[in-house]
Amino acid sequence: MHAIGIDIGGTKIAGAVVTELGEIVEELRRPSPADDPDAMVDVVVEMIADLASRHEVSGAGVAAAGFIDAAQSTVYYAPNIAWRNEPLRARIEERLPGLDITVDNDANAAGWAEFRFGAGRIYSDMTMLTIGTGVGGAVVVGDRLLRGGFGTGGEIGHLRVVPGGLPCGCGARGCIEQYGSGRALLRMANEIADAGGIGRPLADARAEAEAAGGKLDGGLVGGLIAAHDPGALAALRELGGWLGQACASLGAVLDPQIFVFGGGVAVAGDLLLDPVREAYLAHLPARGYHPEPQFLVAELVNDAGVVGAADLARLHADAQ
Ligand code: BGC
Ligand code: ZN
Repeated sequence: MHAIGIDIGGTKIAGAVVTELGEIVEELRRPSPADDPDAMVDVVVEMIADLASRHEVSGAGVAAAGFIDAAQSTVYYAPNIAWRNEPLRARIEERLPGLDITVDNDANAAGWAEFRFGAGRIYSDMTMLTIGTGVGGAVVVGDRLLRGGFGTGGEIGHLRVVPGGLPCGCGARGCIEQYGSGRALLRMANEIADAGGIGRPLADARAEAEAAGGKLDGGLVGGLIAAHDPGALAALRELGGWLGQACASLGAVLDPQIFVFGGGVAVAGDLLLDPVREAYLAHLPARGYHPEPQFLVAELVNDAGVVGAADLARLHADAQ
């Protein structure tokens, strides 16, 4: 049966009706009221009700950027949203009687979609990193999504790469999220702009944006990366270096056949993957004696969250 998938992002909330084969039957997008968690619930409820009024569905899966409990009901903690022990499932379910709702981590949803229908579909062991505002993680081991003992397994963004490093939204310091996310890329781009030299085009783009009341953002840096601007590429290489180092440690523990990169920054493709792979090989334990995993970018791009959330909701319903 079809299921609904909802993906709550920082800028938009996506919702879709998805078939058992991962095909989207209908899709909606709404702006995300990211700084107002209550308004977010209103938008999610309205989207599910709208889609459910036109399609017969087994339930709805809601993907959110945070640590989710084993019962797939509560957001224990969201580093970049004001959710603390938020009973998200109950809050949605009470307004949509008769519909089964499950809550999942956003990167788990995207990773599961890539594993089932995208870049990871021919493998049994896949590690996915989503590179956006934060760094998300999804780990598939032996064809199963790793949940951990309390539901919060696979939070790769909070793997520590720098002892005593930059403070992170999770409350700890030195997490890869502070060195490998879209926000980190902007920090690196700003530093390169400040240094002059190859940073001049970045500084010019920043000055132009600031004159218009804005700032150097992902769109501007992404445009310069696509134009192979040396300063923007240097920032991306720095980011990729940190991510590759993290993958080397993850590889030692999880030994995946493939690493998949999703999220906004992954549209850079090989410009991101090349420095990741290089740093991975340089830091890998048993270097030279370990089979080399694939490094690929996500195939489902913007649809991964909704497709995975719907499929995980269906699995959850089947397991009941
Ligand atoms: C959160 C994760 C989330 C990731 C991407 C991280 O800060 O801890 O739960 O998957 O951001 O949104
Ligand atoms: Zn952290």
